[in-house]
Amino acid sequence: MLRVALSHDVDRITKSHQFITRTWRSIYSADYRGVLNQIKDLGRSNQYWGFDEVIKIESEFGVKSTFFFLNESLRTNILSPNSWKLSMGRYNIHDRKVVNIIKWLDTNGWEIGVHGSYLSFKNLNLLISEKKTLESIVGHEIIGIRQHYINIADTTWQLQFNAGFKYDSTWGLGEEIGYRENIVKPFSPLNNSFRVIPFAVMDSCFASTPNKWDKLQTIIDQTIENDAILVINWHTNNYSELDFPDYKKNYIKIIETCIKNGAKFYTLKDYYNQILSNGH
Ligand SMILES: [Zn+2]
Repeated sequence: MLRVALSHDVDRITKSHQFITRTWRSIYSADYRGVLNQIKDLGRSNQYWGFDEVIKIESEFGVKSTFFFLNESLRTNILSPNSWKLSMGRYNIHDRKVVNIIKWLDTNGWEIGVHGSYLSFKNLNLLISEKKTLESIVGHEIIGIRQHYINIADTTWQLQFNAGFKYDSTWGLGEEIGYRENIVKPFSPLNNSFRVIPFAVMDSCFASTPNKWDKLQTIIDQTIENDAILVINWHTNNYSELDFPDYKKNYIKIIETCIKNGAKFYTLKDYYNQILSNGH
């Protein structure tokens, strides 16, 4: 049987500096249509708010997913351009609009998890405070995490466990689709109840994969053979059809392909609870 967990990293909710960076990129590559598109798009900053799209799509298929919310606290260092894109355009997790969507998703059966901030993969205090902040919003325990930029160090899983997380879904590839180091099944790096649940398909990697549908089928077959779970990661801001052409269409087609393969859909939390109760 094919098991599938759909998930979404919530990196940003509004389009801001991307109007400038994307226009600049289009100018640089002499893509005048791209420049025109960005100009036409000015003022539509809400197009990175992908929640309505995700909820509509998943509701039509009768499936629920996991949303990992980012609470970035990294300060902008004016001398370090690398820090700009990490801190610019971030959202405030206490913003009323954000709190409302988190609560709505949580009470309607979607799962809320922590999208660990850029430096949290090696910082216990950040992991604890980001977990507590989200828990204070939903009013119950949060058990799952995925690190922003899929950052992992040797100590990350131990720190996540010490912070009270029960599973992590950071293990995956950032450049292509497929299973990182061919590890298909969830594993217990700490030899206890903590589980790492690998992800196999991320949106940007899928977009740049040649023969993507054949490769997806290979990954699906591999997942079934290993009695594992296919974890998909589609960022909420990538449902903007202008800036991310085909991402939404492909997300829908991936769900349809999974259904054709007899998929059963889980939130990562439900899957974690099931593997633990089965004694895996
Ligand atoms: Zn992220």
